[in-house]
Amino acid sequence: MSDPVIDAEAKTGQNLQWEAAADLVVLGSGVAGLTAALRARELGLRVLVVTKAAVADGNTRWAQGGVAVVLDGEHGEPDQGDTVAAHAADTVTAGAGLCDDDAVGTIIGAGPAAVARLRGRGAEFDAGSSGLARTREGGHSAFRVIHAGGDATGAEVERALVAAAGEHGIPVLERHLAVDALRTAAGAVAGVTVLDPAGVPGVLRAPAVLLATGGFGQLYQATSNPEIATGDGLALALRAGALIADIEFVQFHPTVLYTPGARGRCPLVTEAVRGEGAVLLDGAGERVMTGVHPLADLAPRDVVSAAITRRMAQAPGGVDDHVFLDATGISGFARRFPTVHAACLAAGTDPLREPIPVTPAAHFACGGVVTGTDGRTGVTGLYAAGEVARTGLHGANRLASNSLLEGLVVGERAAEAVAADLAAGVLAKPRHGLTPGAACVPVADRDAVQRVMSRYAAIGRDADGLAAAGSVLDLSAVDCPLWTHEAVEDAALTMLAQALLAAAARRTESRGCHVRTDAPERDDATWRRSQLIRLSPSGQPVLADPVLEGAA
Ligand SMILES: Cc1cc2nc3c(=O)[nH]c(=O)nc-3n(C[C@H](O)[C@H](O)[C@H](O)COP(=O)(O)OP(=O)(O)OC[C@H]3O[C@@H](n4cnc5c(N)ncnc54)[C@H](O)[C@@H]3O)c2cc1C
Repeated sequence: MSDPVIDAEAKTGQNLQWEAAADLVVLGSGVAGLTAALRARELGLRVLVVTKAAVADGNTRWAQGGVAVVLDGEHGEPDQGDTVAAHAADTVTAGAGLCDDDAVGTIIGAGPAAVARLRGRGAEFDAGSSGLARTREGGHSAFRVIHAGGDATGAEVERALVAAAGEHGIPVLERHLAVDALRTAAGAVAGVTVLDPAGVPGVLRAPAVLLATGGFGQLYQATSNPEIATGDGLALALRAGALIADIEFVQFHPTVLYTPGARGRCPLVTEAVRGEGAVLLDGAGERVMTGVHPLADLAPRDVVSAAITRRMAQAPGGVDDHVFLDATGISGFARRFPTVHAACLAAGTDPLREPIPVTPAAHFACGGVVTGTDGRTGVTGLYAAGEVARTGLHGANRLASNSLLEGLVVGERAAEAVAADLAAGVLAKPRHGLTPGAACVPVADRDAVQRVMSRYAAIGRDADGLAAAGSVLDLSAVDCPLWTHEAVEDAALTMLAQALLAAAARRTESRGCHVRTDAPERDDATWRRSQLIRLSPSGQPVLADPVLEGAA
């Protein structure tokens, strides 16, 4: 097997100028990016993968619970007559009225074949008594979540894809951070600018660029996401003229491991622990989810996170910042959940003997760059897949374990769309891409952004808090050139914070992950629609008119 990683160190200090080295530049080496790159290579395209970190650093490797998919008989019979239609129905229910039915049908329907191809590329899932083992997570009406290494599914998916990329000789340029798109005079994307590890700028020219840059959990103080999750791809897309949507719907995972004063990435306690029987308790030992939802501890994530938040606020003094997850009744816990077990022990909790302290944390971006299920954005030459994209699968709240599946399906379809667009001759000539000037954009201090977003724009928002957060951002942002990795990331977080605050303030209802304490009801008459955001000519994210944009 050849090593797919281009030696980034050897390039440090050189000014990259790769003219037409690839038909497709894929930004990101998680499940969506590598799946797209492999499919593109199968279709005979020259593909270059670029990642701002090491090849395996992304949200993908941290995924625990698994991949939601209805098995097809060959790999084990579906659970109790489970069907693709039932999986789609659960997805739509979790999405709280904002899923795109066509996207749900396409992506969920393509799931079994996509998982079969992933297994063909070497990913190994845990075996059960007949075929693959399956678990159940919140919002699922059946046991349909396949997993690997117990609770290390993402690590296995990433391992298999990185190995397959190596076997196919796909080059991966590590530690190069994409900044902006090159665009032609007609507005088509024709490459990207990058910063190498030393911050030296370079240019990668290609007729097609696929964003597979993941989410933006780092917008908040506590998140399950690693450091890379700063939303760079959304900011790049907005600056390139694309639309984003559903940005106000940030899913908070109900249970990350609580440690006092934790900041940044917090270890996740996968939902599958509740799927195997663990229950949430408050400080007094009372069940948190009793009477809240028919599925109790396995209610959809938005419901569980909001219930925990309410229960914490009701604690004496209203200052409690965690509840407990009692998993002591699960036999074989350490074998089934080795990652969670190790994280608990490292934090001083023995989950076999005592309840695990847990709290909600920012976990998944339901919104993103507006695309079809083929990854096409509204900008010629720009595609997006995975968590950075908004296909309409997740609506206002993602169903657990649907995102790896989306990355697998849409990653492949995006590569096929690029191949089709290349063959049809609709993409720009790379040499026509104009290098963007050294624009200055608003950049706020990251700590300040995370602090106000956690305080005013997490679970439980109201008009006054959202306005206060906006004022803090406006006051603390200063215009900076995008000359360093830090500036690019902080500019993206600032822009996304502004976009999220605008969308959350306008949406005067509660739906899915968006909970307004001053508008607690769901208002289908007014709000059963997505909000689109684009950049104004002055570079501010603004709500777009769906009619004018030609999309509802
Ligand atoms: C703790 C945790 C547990 C999870 N559990 C599950 C689960 O059980 N099941 C499930 O379906 N989903 C789960 N998810 C969600 C799922 O892991 C992600 O949605 C999915 O892996 C995203 O894949 P991706 O390919 O879109 O992006 P990522 O895997 O996040 O990869 C993003 C890539 O983009 C690169 N990048 C970012 N910005 C730039 C830039 N400016 N220039 C160049 N490269 C850039 C990064 O370096 C990285 O390579 C979990 C997430 C977390 C954090």
